[in-house]
Formats: sequence, structure tokens, C-alpha cells
Amino acid sequence: MIHVTKTFLPPQKEYQDILHRAWQTGWMTNRGVLVKELEASLKQYLNTPNIIAMTNGTLPLQIAIKALGLKGEIITTPFSYVATTSSIVWENCTPIFVDIHPEYLTIDESKIEAAITPNTSGILATHVFGNPCHVEAIEKIAFKHNLKVIYDAAHCFGMQYKGESIFNLGDVSTCSFHATKLFHTGEGGALFCKETYFKKMYSHHNFGHDGPENFHSLGVNAKMSEPQAAMGLAVLPYMETIINSRKKVVDVYNKAFKNSSLQVLRIREHTKWNYSYFPVIFESETQLLKVIEALNNHSVFPRRYFFPSLNTLPYVNSESMPISESIASRIICLPLFVGLQEKDLETIINVIQTNL
Ligand SMILES: *Cc1c(COP(=O)(O)O)cnc(C)c1O
Repeated sequence: MIHVTKTFLPPQKEYQDILHRAWQTGWMTNRGVLVKELEASLKQYLNTPNIIAMTNGTLPLQIAIKALGLKGEIITTPFSYVATTSSIVWENCTPIFVDIHPEYLTIDESKIEAAITPNTSGILATHVFGNPCHVEAIEKIAFKHNLKVIYDAAHCFGMQYKGESIFNLGDVSTCSFHATKLFHTGEGGALFCKETYFKKMYSHHNFGHDGPENFHSLGVNAKMSEPQAAMGLAVLPYMETIINSRKKVVDVYNKAFKNSSLQVLRIREHTKWNYSYFPVIFESETQLLKVIEALNNHSVFPRRYFFPSLNTLPYVNSESMPISESIASRIICLPLFVGLQEKDLETIINVIQTNL
């Protein structure tokens, strides 16, 4: 059976050797040596000044919304994973959806200003499949209307835009280190922010503690544990191998679908992409369903990702978002992972091509 992704596992001994150090300290969490070492290694690898490792990629979004003091309406994209929208609602704010660009699949920056009202406090946008939003336009709009900007950069590990880590953009960026993501710690994630927000974000992720007996502010528990950090430290040395191996698969897909009716992701200019996903967009949902069935018959299980369009969630009130809804109904992510066999890749491509 072939799924859309397969978690990269480092040699077990390497993981255990790192984890052994947690036995030596006797600490399993509360920011032990492994979490601190992972943060230091990631800072260096990613070239980003402020990082807080967390226990998943969703809590950093909620903490960012809370710590930046966002209230009322937050402008966001309907084409992302549910965590982007649910975090807004969970923090008692209202998501105001703005439709997406039909090729980049990121929020359509030209439609943002029309959605701003006196109640708007921020923009939460996703660099979807690692494709950067139009960050310059968003920054300009945010400055003009005094809005905070959070980027859900869950898919963006290791990515650069105009030569700089994509995590350095916005007031806050977040990443997920979930086992299905490019770099992982089993469950895990991180928050990246400007220096001015660091102390507040840090305090929020640790119950609001300011030393053992003082409390800086309201907080929650989003701390990463030592076993999670050990996995990250064991996976990190393999990132070049992981990215190169995925690039090979992406090159094969791109070549195979070049002259077909399939639409593939258009990566924004000046982007050093990370080969995190290979989405393909069909001409119709009927065609998509036909291809999925044919792939399933060959034991291949791609994922309808992202589906449904988030403006149709039962707990939001939104007008329709025609582009996002149309794309969501026609898009799947194809299998892409280290160790995907050449013959399986051939099967996937053949099945798709014969069913277009
Ligand atoms: C995976 C993902 C998240 C959530 O990350 P978790 O680590 O699973 O909590 C948030 N946003 C997007 C776009 C994602 O793909």
C-alpha cells in the first residue's frame, strides 16, 4: 500500500543514542538539554534568530493569535489545513476568508483590502505546500491598516524566499514538525517571531511562568518534550538526503505531466522550495474521483488535500469562495517520500495518464 507520505525514520540506534542522554539527565520535559540543543541546531540550520520549539504546529498558531492581542476579525485563507481556521475560532476571533490565487493557491493579496473592516486585527495566511504568499503586498497592506501578520508556515521547513529564511517573515511564523511533514519530531512544531515578541510568546507556551514562582501572563502548556527533541536531532542530519531524494521524485512527476491537462503548483519567483508536496489539479471533480478509484485499485492512496475549502466548515459563517472551492474539489497530493520505488512511481504516473 502506498500512501501520500511515509514518515522518514532515522536509524533506530541513532535515535536511541540521543535519547540515552535524557536518561542521563533524568529529565523528560520542561525544556531539557535535548530541546535546547534542537532549538540551537535549528536556529543555525534555518538561519533564524528566534525559535521556540513546541509540542505541535497548532498551539503556536493559537499562542501567536493570543500573544499578539488579535481580536475581532482575522483575515485568512480558505485553502489550508483546518488548523489555520480552527485556531482563529478557538481564540474567539472570527475568520474572514479571502479567496486564493488560482495558480499559486495562496491568499489573493489583491482581494485583502476589500475585506478589511474596523474590526480587523490581523492576517493569518498560509504558505500553502511551501509556496510563499505575496509577502511584500501583505506587508504593505498590514502596515497601512496597522494589522499584525501571522504566517502558517507548517509546510515550509528549510525554505528560503529572496535568500532569507521564510520563517523570518511576518510578526510570527509557525511550523509543524508532525510525522507527515518534511522535518519531524513525531508530533511537534515551532514558533518563530521578532525579538520584541519573544518573551511573551515564550511565557505563553510555558503556563505564563516567569521563574518558578512568578507568572508573567496567562499561559498554556505547549512545551516540546525530550523524546520529541531526540527525534528531531536524529532526523536533522538527514535533511539534505531527504530533500534530494524528494526532488528526484518531483522531477519525474513534473516531466511526466508537462504536456498533460493536469495543473501543477506554480512556485512563486525567488523561492528556494523544499519539495514538501506534489499537488495536482484535475479538470473536474469527476475526473479526480475516477483517478483516485483507479489508483486505489493499484493500492495507491493519494490524499484529497486540502479538502474541503475551509469557508464551508460547519462552525464558520462565510460567503462562498469560488476559486478555493473549485480547486479544493479537484486537487490531490501524490505520493512523495524517501524510498518511493521507481516502479511504483511509474505505476502512479501510468494510472493517472490513462485516466485523464
Ligand atoms: C500540519 C499543519 C498544521 C498543524 O500542525 P500540527 O503539528 O499537526 O498541529 C497547521 N497548518 C497547516 C497548513 C498544516 O499543514
